[in-house]
Amino acid sequence: MKRSRLIVPMALALIALGLAAGPAAAQTPPDKFLGHKVGEDRKLADYAQIKAYFEKLDQESNKLQLFTIGESVLKKPIIMAAISTPENLAKLDRWKEITHKLRDPRTTPVDEARKLAKEGKAVVLITCSLHATEIAASQMAMELAYDLVTGKTFFDAGKILADVIVLLVPSHNPDGNQMVVDWYEKYVGTEFEGGGMPWLYHHYAGHDNNRDWYMFNLPETRAVTKVLYHDWLPQIHVDEHQMGSTGARLFVPPFMDPPLPNIQPSVWRGVNLVGTGMSYDLQKHGLSGVVNGRSYTAWWIGACDDTSWLHNVIGILSEAASVRTATPIHIEPNEIPTSYAVKRMDFIDPWPGGWWRLRDIVDYELVLSKSMIKTAGLHKEDLLFNFYQMNKNSVEKTDKGQPYAFVIPALQRDYPTMLKMLEVLKMGGVEIHQTKADFIAGGRFYNAGSFVVKTAQPYKTFAWSLLEKQKYPDMRQYPGGPPVPPYDNAAWTLPLQMGVLCDEIEEPFEAKLEKIGAVPYPKVPAQGKSDYFVLDSRVNASYALAMALLKDGAEVWRTKTRTTVKGHDLQAGCFVVKNTAAVKKALPALAEKLNLAVLDVDDVSALPKAPVKFPRIGLFQSWRGNMDEGWTRYVLDDMGIPYKTLHNADIKGTKEKKPDLRAEFDVIIFADEAANTIKGTRPGATPGGAESAMGRMFRQSPMPPEYEGGIGQEGVDALKAFVEKGGRMVALNRAVEFAISDFSAPARNTLTGVDRTKFFCPTSILRLLVDNETPIGYGLPKEAPTMFVNSLALDTFSPPYGWDRKVVAAYPEDEILMSGWLLGEEYLARKAAVVDTKWKDGRIILIGVRCQSRAQSHGTYKFLLNALLYPEM
Ligand SMILES: [Zn+2]
Repeated sequence: MKRSRLIVPMALALIALGLAAGPAAAQTPPDKFLGHKVGEDRKLADYAQIKAYFEKLDQESNKLQLFTIGESVLKKPIIMAAISTPENLAKLDRWKEITHKLRDPRTTPVDEARKLAKEGKAVVLITCSLHATEIAASQMAMELAYDLVTGKTFFDAGKILADVIVLLVPSHNPDGNQMVVDWYEKYVGTEFEGGGMPWLYHHYAGHDNNRDWYMFNLPETRAVTKVLYHDWLPQIHVDEHQMGSTGARLFVPPFMDPPLPNIQPSVWRGVNLVGTGMSYDLQKHGLSGVVNGRSYTAWWIGACDDTSWLHNVIGILSEAASVRTATPIHIEPNEIPTSYAVKRMDFIDPWPGGWWRLRDIVDYELVLSKSMIKTAGLHKEDLLFNFYQMNKNSVEKTDKGQPYAFVIPALQRDYPTMLKMLEVLKMGGVEIHQTKADFIAGGRFYNAGSFVVKTAQPYKTFAWSLLEKQKYPDMRQYPGGPPVPPYDNAAWTLPLQMGVLCDEIEEPFEAKLEKIGAVPYPKVPAQGKSDYFVLDSRVNASYALAMALLKDGAEVWRTKTRTTVKGHDLQAGCFVVKNTAAVKKALPALAEKLNLAVLDVDDVSALPKAPVKFPRIGLFQSWRGNMDEGWTRYVLDDMGIPYKTLHNADIKGTKEKKPDLRAEFDVIIFADEAANTIKGTRPGATPGGAESAMGRMFRQSPMPPEYEGGIGQEGVDALKAFVEKGGRMVALNRAVEFAISDFSAPARNTLTGVDRTKFFCPTSILRLLVDNETPIGYGLPKEAPTMFVNSLALDTFSPPYGWDRKVVAAYPEDEILMSGWLLGEEYLARKAAVVDTKWKDGRIILIGVRCQSRAQSHGTYKFLLNALLYPEM
């Protein structure tokens, strides 16, 4: 929020004369404010202090205005400073108006754009320490702000800032910043100093908060996205991170191959211009060890700086070598890998080794940040006009392989999930049309009410990349050699992940289109007047509604076969709810919230059905900060499904008290995690998903004893007793290996030990054949696109006494890849992916894919949801 301020007449007079230097003497340097030097060994400012410092600067300087751009999960305000000349700050609305005009060439002719580029100001955004342990940038931000308002720069600050509006977000993960500082300060001076935390540095996502930038699940992502594509429309965006300790001191672009093909070449030219400027200025400051063109590819779009590319913004990633939070490290020269010890054109000045401190990172980041601002100032008119030109290309030019449009049919299996997808597109700034009449496109008939995303629009690249199927190039280390893995996903195709029907239409077509403003939520009809009602098993929201009603004691069944009710063809697994007075009272608000229509029926006696009970759910959380556990929690919270978090001691009990898990729980979920991490047999084990080199460094340091180890054999025994007595254990992705190794579930992972040159599938979307007449497959389509992320290919077999198994989903014989990259398809052909196993009175459900991947793959949530709402057969 803009704060009201008192401007003394003298300052006004100075502004009028264009001489305003601000009340220079009055500005408090951060060192004085904090009582220590920024980046001093073992000293950190926490978010409260950072925020307070920016508030102080906001009061003291007329070159800085502070805004609140959003709120974190744990309700901390996310602040952003706008820094420029007082004259520019007085006219922020005008500069925003100009960037908005330059975004849309359809209403801004070229001549006007040239004038606006001359008049306007380059808007640049710097975001810091999204990964909270990569803490230097959040500290650096205070000094950067101070240097800019006091002119402590290696360029003429007055002249440059006259052409640039600097937007500075000191931390877009304030919750994480606070956790990391608290943890560090608790253990500084002990043997655990500078070690990793036993939990994620974001309430849900941990490191994956930098995998959320096309899905916008997290409020922190949405706050910055609003700045980027809705409010300010910067031309350059720098996101500052840290990496491992022993290689280069700093990475700045150019990026590494391959580039995502639909991104405009001018984006890369701009990225290289700014990145090379940074390297140049760092060299001038005597800062060695800067690398370009390695490690970080130009393909993956889920990271903070990367999604900018798809919006014609120059997106820059910086990665500095890490210390142990704020504790300096010493690196022996021979500890530096050879590739970072010799001169190469992409690494022309190796760092010799020695001490490396938090302050060193701050120094590198100050220079790279200022360098970007300098480049923006020197090229301001060009940057603004190029921004316009790229948007004009997006609207007018047809790129190779560019379809005319994507059509999202009105008839969907899961309409509320389709609405969610539209929200994601809107958040990314995509223009969407709705059709007012039936039409034909690509030889197919579509009903009125279908949605159309035309590719010719300013944010074409984002819309196109999100909706198309990715074809990752077959990149090898040498011809015939092992694959070069992508930085992260090879594929993300949103309609496939979300189970939403969406057709790519090559050729132009005629339709009566109307541009939508907000996502049009249909009015939920008055409903629930009969004695019973039915909820469609294909719709995710049905599970949320069933769960909410069960919690309140409603009587609920699930249909056991495909049935027809009042002319509706219903898939197996639909929920049948007895419409009691209590249900009638609760239903309208829930149905409204979930955008869900129910089907009223008076007599359900003929429906083959089995009762389902409210499940008491436990979710295991290791002390290793497992991101997949965080996302599982996100999905459950998002759907309003109650659960209890279980730690090692809750499962294995104590010497005094052995737990009776069955007395407390019906279902216990294990998120994607290696068996030895769960059991704690390998203390340094890596949890699920991508992890930073820093994460690995932290994992080498000891944890306080209360966080060491896992559930151990006692935990396994307690879980066995839980299953024997009728409990359901759900193993997600690699936790399936745990179910196999420690519970002897009747399956075998056939990918174990298979060489990368033979089989390789970096996070891609694969085709699964689902038996949707069996409980775990209820509601799913017969062919389901699914996220394969370090996933499994299972062989099942005739099990010993006491066991049974049912294959729920398996890979087809061929044509398995739907989006991404898959080498060695034959290793997956006909293998099982999801298996429902029965042991004594209970079940162990093996879900060998990432069915709730990063809360993106809504299309396969039902594997998990069915495991929770398993009918009493
Ligand atoms: Zn990072």
